[in-house]
Amino acid sequence: MARISVGILGATGMVGQTLVQQIDKHPWFKVTELAASDKSAGERYGEVMKNRWNISSAMPDYARDLVVKECRPNLDCDLVLSALDSSVAKEVEEDFAKSGYAVSSNAKNHRMDPDVPLLIPEINAGHVELIKKQQKQRGWKGFIVTDPNCSTIHMCLALKPLLDSFGIEKVMVTTMQALSGAGYPGVSSMDIVDNVIPFIYDEEEKVETEPLKIFGSFSKDGINPAGMKVSAQCNRVAVRHGHTECVSVKLSKKVSEKEIIKSFEEFAPNMSLGLPSSPKHPVVYLENDNRPQPKLDVNLENGMASVVGRLRACSILDYKFVVLGHNLIRGAAGAAILNAELLKVKGYLD
Ligand code: NAP
Repeated sequence: MARISVGILGATGMVGQTLVQQIDKHPWFKVTELAASDKSAGERYGEVMKNRWNISSAMPDYARDLVVKECRPNLDCDLVLSALDSSVAKEVEEDFAKSGYAVSSNAKNHRMDPDVPLLIPEINAGHVELIKKQQKQRGWKGFIVTDPNCSTIHMCLALKPLLDSFGIEKVMVTTMQALSGAGYPGVSSMDIVDNVIPFIYDEEEKVETEPLKIFGSFSKDGINPAGMKVSAQCNRVAVRHGHTECVSVKLSKKVSEKEIIKSFEEFAPNMSLGLPSSPKHPVVYLENDNRPQPKLDVNLENGMASVVGRLRACSILDYKFVVLGHNLIRGAAGAAILNAELLKVKGYLD
């Protein structure tokens, strides 16, 4: 099978370089273009990233000699993975979709557009069909699909087995979010060392609204949002990678701890789709009282799992637990690649 040609927009940022690394040797995709701002354009990627490559494994060979381009819709590829800063993502992604490219985005700008799929393939693969409505309404040859906010993805993966088995009425979540979630160079060391910052711009709104669309039901008219209520408090902490989230839930029926753990452990929803980046276990439950921890558990299932632990009764809602997930892999780059794989399987990249 000929591999599909891919361009990465925002290839120099934290998510962009994670895309460059994660897509290396992908069985279906081959990167032909790397693009970023005009500050980076015109030089070889290896040169541009000489002092900016922030990943412990070496830069993949394929990327070193690609010359970084500007983010204009004249790139030699069929699919673009966007890791653009949100200040430019809206217009640039629209320009690509209008020009016939398939766009799989990490940026927030189009997530809540009623005709744009906000995808987690294990949860709402069927929402991909919104693309037809999007193309019809906007008259585009291409299209945009998005992945959710990095805290939203992990919380929703952990909630999905509970929603399916028991129903969910209310969710309260307090996040402790890693520094790499703020991009590069991100938060100043003077601000974060010896500190916790109890505010991340626009984050609580995303974590409260995106799950309702993700868990919503699809009809040809659009997504009918889920009825649950979500309340979020988001904090920045001095952890390099991995968002930790303390979640309390009110369920629609009384269940035992054992039944909840069983639902986490048995959650294996999209194996039949055959997506190469699908984790075998999208939700991993850890029994030890002091887990999950970012330092120890963030790379489980190659960073593609949501790691859950500390399930116990909640005296206000029904149960509480902790969720940990890699913000750059399952929370961003890995999610955009998984969505692109879903597009391929559903025939949108033919
Ligand atoms: P980042 O490190 O700041 O990278 C931003 C990228 O956007 C860089 O490649 C930059 O290129 C490019 N860019 C900036 N201005 C541009 C312009 N005018 N024209 C073209 N390209 C431009 O940010 P990040 O953390 O990788 O995040 C990228 C996107 O993913 C954001 O929308 C973010 O909200 C989203 N996201 C991030 C995470 C995470 O954990 N970090 C998780 C989920 C979603 P230059 O280097 O050339 O300036």
